[in-house]
Amino acid sequence: MFAAHIQDNRPQATAHLAKTMSYLQLPATELEAALMAELDRNPALELVDELRCPGCGKRLRRLPCPTCAAPTGDGAPVVFLSPRQPGGLHEIEGGEDDLPETSVPERLDEHILRQIGPALAREERPVAAHILAQLDENGFLTEAPAEIARYKHVALSLVQRVLDLVQHADPPGVGAAGPQASLLIQLDCLSETSSAPPAMMHLARLLIQEHFAALGKMEYERVARRLRAEHGLHLMPGTIETAVQFIHRNLTPYPARAHWGDGKLPAADTAALRNPDVNITTLASDGGSALSVEVFAPLSGWLRVNPELKAAAANCSGEDRERWGQAIANAALVTKCLQQRNHTMRRLMQIIAEGQRDFILGGDGDLRPSTRVQIAQALGLHESTISRAVAGKSVALPDGRIVPLAKFFDRSLAVRDRVRQLVEAETDPLADDEIAAALAKEGLQVARRTVAKYRKMLGILPASVRGRQARTHLATRPHNARLTAVALATPPA
Ligand SMILES: [Zn+2]
Repeated sequence: MFAAHIQDNRPQATAHLAKTMSYLQLPATELEAALMAELDRNPALELVDELRCPGCGKRLRRLPCPTCAAPTGDGAPVVFLSPRQPGGLHEIEGGEDDLPETSVPERLDEHILRQIGPALAREERPVAAHILAQLDENGFLTEAPAEIARYKHVALSLVQRVLDLVQHADPPGVGAAGPQASLLIQLDCLSETSSAPPAMMHLARLLIQEHFAALGKMEYERVARRLRAEHGLHLMPGTIETAVQFIHRNLTPYPARAHWGDGKLPAADTAALRNPDVNITTLASDGGSALSVEVFAPLSGWLRVNPELKAAAANCSGEDRERWGQAIANAALVTKCLQQRNHTMRRLMQIIAEGQRDFILGGDGDLRPSTRVQIAQALGLHESTISRAVAGKSVALPDGRIVPLAKFFDRSLAVRDRVRQLVEAETDPLADDEIAAALAKEGLQVARRTVAKYRKMLGILPASVRGRQARTHLATRPHNARLTAVALATPPA
């Protein structure tokens, strides 16, 4: 009998779960668009234009909800849901005593979407949104196009077309897989607009395409020998230096940083330059010690099943009754799943705010990453549910940083930060095994090859090259050569 009971409810339960999961996976801005489409489709669903707390449902005159956002007094974080206002964070905070208006520059994803938007077909838009959301701090796309095609259930050629648009928008080279690919795309764009001699363009392309690693190490003589052997190029002495200088002047290995590195928000968080889904501040009334965590719900209004339509449907008969009944059931499902999504986001942020207070108020080195499994167990949810809740969301921190929610789960971040500090403080260049040994002394067990991987992620050259760079610098050898090596290999600080 129990089995029969489950059987009966399965279609409904499955629909509920699937919808909740799909809502959970979307950032608030995208979910807002999805809900608006649902409103267009379903006349039984109604958006009441009044300000209500998405947590307790109380009508509000002003934000935040005085009940849900009340300080607890014991220093615990206050985590509450907040209706998203049209225009995002700015509008909500647009009071008298709030953020200066200049604090948020146009986001990189918005900037690119604004340019490519008109060229996108309807079915290409979600792919563009996905690509832009996946860009890392340097503007690179580490996900393979085939992976995106599979994930979004679209043809690979469609992904490639969208990616091509992204890569050739301003700043060119965003969306490439790495610095080398990015430089080649930038060179393409440059050749369309620049009056540089074709021979220079050609040499620059050869250098980037075939001798990228050697350039970083300034092995110009070796490169000249190989160009002679492999391409029959007989270059005048100093030509490669000139070409490298040309690359340095016109191209940048880290396209996102070049354009977005000067704003208030640190360049490292470019990927998360979007309307944050969560806004964390400190509670002034609590002496600034307690955290106030505002989890944005996707709508500013109140979503409900249209009561008149519901009443009218009850008086219908036959086919009409069934049709309206279905619409009403769907509308009820949407409101229920939305509530559940909001509820899960709030619980997730509660546990993160409690566990990550040091990182929220401090820096990357204070991160004590959680695993999705730990959080899933603490909340009694499945790990995949946590993954969906984390996907694509971003968090504004009290000091103005906006970071991907996934950052709270980044195990390597604290170690990477320590590697960077060690290299910055070195007097003689530390080899990777020496860095590993230094980390081990601090209780961080990291393999040498992992150090090498983190070092590359940080854009730090190997110790042997760092040593040569320092000597070059001291001897004030050709200034441009040193700059180029830095530009090709190290992201600007
Ligand atoms: Zn409330």
